[in-house]
Amino acid sequence: MSHRKLHNVILLALLFTAAARAQEPTKTVKTFKLGETSVNVNVYERAGAAVTLFAPHHNEQGALKAAREAIAARGGRFVEVESFDEAGAPARRLRFRVGGKAYSVDPNRIYTPNGRKCLNLPADAEAAVKAFADELLNLLFAPGGTSLRAGETLFVAVHNNSDVEKSPAAERDSDLSAVAFVKPLRSRTTFRGAFEESAAGVYLSNTEDDEDNFIIVTDPRLLGPLAARGFNVIVQKPAAQLRVPGCAVDDGSLSVHASFNNIPYVNLEVDINGGAARQRQMLEAVYDLIKTKQ
Ligand SMILES: [Zn+2]
Repeated sequence: MSHRKLHNVILLALLFTAAARAQEPTKTVKTFKLGETSVNVNVYERAGAAVTLFAPHHNEQGALKAAREAIAARGGRFVEVESFDEAGAPARRLRFRVGGKAYSVDPNRIYTPNGRKCLNLPADAEAAVKAFADELLNLLFAPGGTSLRAGETLFVAVHNNSDVEKSPAAERDSDLSAVAFVKPLRSRTTFRGAFEESAAGVYLSNTEDDEDNFIIVTDPRLLGPLAARGFNVIVQKPAAQLRVPGCAVDDGSLSVHASFNNIPYVNLEVDINGGAARQRQMLEAVYDLIKTKQ
């Protein structure tokens, strides 16, 4: 190879490397106070799509990986809350201290006043949780936390759940699965119904063979396009029906906050065991949906 050709090859290689690097999402670490504890909230971002993906549960590593890959491939923003147990393993619950006392909360039960009351925390700890939730909402949504960010048409939460088929039969009724949102019928008591109080209705797809894989939507208009792609879809009750006493309906989850504020919201729930391909398909469907809306 001539000197000049070699020079060109090197130049081309450098250009390709630069292009590849431009595709990598940038990672920004925000630190929010939860009482006396600092919590890292990571933001992965890349140009290409106006959407925010969010993972509140740090132990749901399959969902985290799928979301990071979606951002790298198609753009947008992925926000994850970091949480570790005493042994340093990724954890679902967030541990924190207020007034020197130790507490923990599920970071998907903190976004509404009723939900925070259901945590049964002392007043100072509840106030700390509210301050943290407000900061997070300001990051996830437009300033104020009550509407989508400019240009976005949909908010996407990503989760994994445990495998209902592996639970003891007696505990399956309280497991989170698509069937758990179906109201037991007078004529059929085989449906589980543990979460039916929060759902307006359920679409069970005959092309989905794992009841741990399903999508929760706050807006019934999102049902059609997702059902057409073969997913199980749960439509959450409308806002007015979520404002009831008790902790079973308004449980402080982000989907309830979204509904109260008319924010189109989808929650992608996938079996922690073997659901990775399904989660990618769900994210593909969501990105296609965003494209048709823009
Ligand atoms: Zn989760």
